Amino acid sequence: MEITLRSYQEEVVQAALKGENSIIWLPTGGGKTRAAVYVAKKHLETTRNAKVAVLVNKVHLVDQHFNNEFNPYLGKAYRVKAISGDSSDKDLFGRLVKDSDLIICTAQILENALNSSEEEKHVELTDFSLLIIDECHHTQKESVYNKIMGRYVEKKVRKERKLPQVLGLTASPGTGGNKTLAKAVEHVLQICANLDSVIVSTKNYASKLKEVVPRPRKQYDIVEKRALDPFGDHLKLMMSLIHEFMPSTVSRSLREVGTQDYEADVVELEKTGVKEENRLITQCALHLRQYNDALLIHDTVRMVDAFNVLDEFYNSRSNKLLDGTDFFLQGLFDENRVELKQLALDARYENPKLAQLQRTLLKEFKENKMSRGIIFSKTRRGTHCLYDWVNANHELQKVKISAGILTGTGTGVNHMNQNKQKNTIKDFRLGHLNLLISTSVAEEGLDIAECNLVVRYGLLTNEIAQQQASGRARALNSVYSVVAEKGGRELRREFTNEYLESLTSNAIDQVQSMSPREFRIKITELQQMAVLIRIEAERKKDARKQRYSPDQVHLQCRGCFVFVGLGEDIRKIENSHHVNINPEFQRHYRTGKQVFLEKTFEDWEPGQVINCRKCGKDWGMEIKFKKVAILPCLNIKSFSLDTPGGKFTHKQWKDVEFQVTEFDFIDYMSSRFPDLDLDD
Ligand SMILES: [Zn+2]
Repeated sequence: MEITLRSYQEEVVQAALKGENSIIWLPTGGGKTRAAVYVAKKHLETTRNAKVAVLVNKVHLVDQHFNNEFNPYLGKAYRVKAISGDSSDKDLFGRLVKDSDLIICTAQILENALNSSEEEKHVELTDFSLLIIDECHHTQKESVYNKIMGRYVEKKVRKERKLPQVLGLTASPGTGGNKTLAKAVEHVLQICANLDSVIVSTKNYASKLKEVVPRPRKQYDIVEKRALDPFGDHLKLMMSLIHEFMPSTVSRSLREVGTQDYEADVVELEKTGVKEENRLITQCALHLRQYNDALLIHDTVRMVDAFNVLDEFYNSRSNKLLDGTDFFLQGLFDENRVELKQLALDARYENPKLAQLQRTLLKEFKENKMSRGIIFSKTRRGTHCLYDWVNANHELQKVKISAGILTGTGTGVNHMNQNKQKNTIKDFRLGHLNLLISTSVAEEGLDIAECNLVVRYGLLTNEIAQQQASGRARALNSVYSVVAEKGGRELRREFTNEYLESLTSNAIDQVQSMSPREFRIKITELQQMAVLIRIEAERKKDARKQRYSPDQVHLQCRGCFVFVGLGEDIRKIENSHHVNINPEFQRHYRTGKQVFLEKTFEDWEPGQVINCRKCGKDWGMEIKFKKVAILPCLNIKSFSLDTPGGKFTHKQWKDVEFQVTEFDFIDYMSSRFPDLDLDD
């Protein structure tokens, strides 16, 4: 197929066609990917031994880019391949790269291949002649994109040759959280330095671009705060009883309930409790977090959704009641459950934002029977609550609203699998669904049918996500509605984001008006700094890993503080799963339900969930390695580490301060069957 570009696309690919590293900045709907296909085509036609890698940041974008863009235009003349995380092809990445001209994969797959020492898997950056990086504003800090580009920049600083050309694509680089022009300029320059690229946008055809990508009409659908809120008041009353149960110095230190600040405070409080082995504090903090979650949900969706959060928490707990704190907390909920539920069902005090959302939806769907809408909400749970609300709402059903949920793919219970997500998007395109309810990150880059209504509902995001959301309203006469409470934080954030959006474009203007020499000096300086910082950070990280000897580190259950094992019992599998190989460990846990995972793994499969035998805390699951070895795989969040330097809690295993050795199957099995006498 022939590729025809619009005038503004033609303009923004010029730098790339000359072989320069560049970032293309075009709004959502402007046709960035098509422009990239064009660059790839010209590159393949004119470069000897050309090899192109297209990197995406989400698994489902691999197939989308392959099916909709790269394969239709390039598949005839070139060997175009797509590799997603689920395919077993990724294990032969090195060989696949050799046998193709253009490869589309997630950045993580390339990063793994760059790190791999096995010949079949390994690749070098210099194996490629062009790297296309989708949604390249993520190339910063610790992101996978930035790990890959970090290598690139280091090679460049070390004056290595034969580095591939870079082409970044973004709808907005953002301001990086900065609110002044000078800082925003710094941020844009940093992104340019990370991608070793200039940033290009259309100068001569801006009006054409506006025509192609019209901005939707923005409307603020603002509601007053509830005048009376008996349900919320009752939740707060219960929280104050828990506050009274704790030492007063502790409860006084917490900020206002029902806020993100409060959540941060109780998360910290739980950690402090663990360090002091104070169960009263840790358990109260954990439960208060649930109550606070309920308040946050109460603020966004229905009262009954908030009630369900708590009810599920208390029902699903396999935890035993160990001491007075457990009896108090469980008792408090049990005594109030009936009343709380009654209050939750009293329609007089229902969330006014929902009534407004209903009006907004009805208006569009009544006027235009062919309407397509998308609601952005904050959390996965929020999308499910709104979905239930739509389906239970007679008025919305009368205008034939048929909703579907779109959330990110992942492994948790509320995550969608890739096929389900594909089907939802397909149903939406075909019109079987006419309303998508999505988290703001889930839809980034997805090829969704044109919408005439976009609603941001109870949402706090940065300016990039806001712009991307607004870019979804592309149909003629489309509406972009912000449903929020008068004077609330969502509204303030919306206004801030509007300001940041214009700040971003001013910052880009300023960067583009720098002289080439001035720009290059600045970029080189930032790159040299980044390399030095990275080397020093690596050194520190290595030192941290060696801080304690594995036999000095004791694992304690985070729920009841019982000692269960040593750091030296831990082995890692595929660099991410951590198992305890000490047979003694078994007596500390009991097993529960069988775990099912969507993904399959090379060497192992999931077994049953495991819980602390003493307090019932969820610890992780058993895994079956090579079908024979059953090993408990531990979630570090469920434990605290007692070291000579004090007690520590970690979110991820990679943060622990002792060396964890790689799991060795033969070593492990032969230790179980010593008479076998296997040679090393
Ligand atoms: Zn325990």
